[in-house]
Amino acid sequence: MDQRSTFWRLVGLVKPFAKRMVLAASLGMATIASGIGLLATSAYIISRSALHPSIAVLHVPIAMVRFFGISRGLFRYAERLTAHDVAFRLLARLRVWFYQALEPLAPARLLQFQSGDLLARIVADVESLEHFYVRVLAPPFIALMTLALMWALLAPFSVTMALVFTLVMVLAGVGVPVLTRYLSRTLGTRLVQVRAELNTALVDGVQGEADLLAYGREEAHRERVRALSEEMDRLQARMARITGLQVGLSAFMVYLAVAAALAVAVPLVHGGHMNGVYLAVVVMAIMASFEAVMPLPGVFQHLEGSLAAARRLFEIVDAEPAVKDPPTPSPEPRDYSIRADRLTFRYRPSDPPALVDVSFTLPEGGKLAVVGPSGAGKSTLVNLLLRFWDYEEGHIYLGGHELRSYHQDDARRLMSVISQNTYLFNGTVRDNLLLAKPDATDEEIVAAARRARIHDMIMSLPDGYDTWIGEQGLRLSGGQRQRLAIARALLKDAPILILDEATASLDALVEQEIMEAIFEVMADRTMLIITHRLVGLDRVDEILVLSHGRVVERGTHRELLTQNGLYRRMWEHQRQVLAIAL
Ligand code: ADP
Repeated sequence: MDQRSTFWRLVGLVKPFAKRMVLAASLGMATIASGIGLLATSAYIISRSALHPSIAVLHVPIAMVRFFGISRGLFRYAERLTAHDVAFRLLARLRVWFYQALEPLAPARLLQFQSGDLLARIVADVESLEHFYVRVLAPPFIALMTLALMWALLAPFSVTMALVFTLVMVLAGVGVPVLTRYLSRTLGTRLVQVRAELNTALVDGVQGEADLLAYGREEAHRERVRALSEEMDRLQARMARITGLQVGLSAFMVYLAVAAALAVAVPLVHGGHMNGVYLAVVVMAIMASFEAVMPLPGVFQHLEGSLAAARRLFEIVDAEPAVKDPPTPSPEPRDYSIRADRLTFRYRPSDPPALVDVSFTLPEGGKLAVVGPSGAGKSTLVNLLLRFWDYEEGHIYLGGHELRSYHQDDARRLMSVISQNTYLFNGTVRDNLLLAKPDATDEEIVAAARRARIHDMIMSLPDGYDTWIGEQGLRLSGGQRQRLAIARALLKDAPILILDEATASLDALVEQEIMEAIFEVMADRTMLIITHRLVGLDRVDEILVLSHGRVVERGTHRELLTQNGLYRRMWEHQRQVLAIAL
């Protein structure tokens, strides 16, 4: 996407706030206008007083000075208030907009962007767009309005003077920033690079000190740090010179404008075309008007930052969701069965298949286990069932209809998942349970917790169901988390239950207990159990043994044990491990 279209998309995002933005900018303009008015009328009073007029002549200008003095403060206050209001509203909108775009991408597409700092980058990028209005859009607008005001003030005296003023203002507002950007164009990047290198070298030096000493490399390392520091000094000195130049030039421009205006005005006064009293007025008005020019150099800098941030965000937002909902409404499931027919799946066309020709039938109320070593493709099967990824070859039927013909939400509504990592949100026990069913009554919550055998534990917490748990809250044990997950699944009351390594993080005894609890309270549900730990599998109707994406064995626990294949080996291995552990 090029700069221009990124810019206009960004403008599109802030459009809903157009009215407020215009209001804020107008208030900013009014502040500057008050400043101009204040200095101009003051100058008028002083010049006029020198001619010893009657005091009556000065009444109005004195009242105006008072008015401008007060209004300037009030306008500034109101402008700050509205500008921040706009910025924060914009921020709130951007966050929601981005989250909405992000959600359908999870997790299939998001993985492509996965880099350690994705989240930090997104947060920083969204925040940096907050400045888009205050520092990028508003200043040029205010500068233009100020220019118009100055025309209204100067042109009646002399159009030439107004033209000269415009020229200097453009030079100060556009010329100076462009010049400094040109001078520092490679410097900024280089500075960032050297700073990063220096940081790494310093950290290396401290953390690797022992090794550096052992290999007698400390002198060389010190030399490197010194060289980098010196380079850094040089770059910073150059940067300081350029910044100094910019500050100096900006100040110079103010006086250039004053001098140029005087050069035009003084002959006018001599020729009798202009009242000398207004000379000081012109000078002071010009000086005050440059307040509108000051933020202009920042515009370029922030524009660049905003565009870069926006480009990164748009790139994520524009990613095509990996799974699309069908245009037609979801079918009504005939029953709660799952059937896979010659299912083959690759994450990327170039990848080896994660599933090959997998077929199975899981009738309503049936129990099917999928086992296999890690990397066999078990989680892939869950990803497909939950419609996180779309399959192309083969079929999955849910309730007798092709899974793809369901909307993602509708398919997920039919299934509860208890996985290895039960995520507890930062909230109360109740909040975390309500996740499964936001409108559940207290009785329902307690009933679910009782059945999951976690009610007593919850009641023993300081605030019962209102105890804060989650991220920064109370630490629950693995078994307690999984019981909460079971309670959640019970609350959701979906007809199909998927256990995705639900007990993998628990020790053997708790694992037994949890599995028993699950089988007991979920007896009537269709159940798909994904596991690499062979616990409680004597209760399931059929076990599929996956290896490298293929079904290599299938049958009941007993049958598989007699087959002397992979299942048997996994079983014996596990028994040995358990024997050692116990
Ligand atoms: P299991 O759950 O049995 O440990 P997985 O279903 O996670 O196995 O993995 C099966 C294969 O698919 C593995 O080779 C794995 O590298 C690959 N795989 C899993 N997730 C992804 C992904 N998001 N992108 C690409 N390949 C993946």
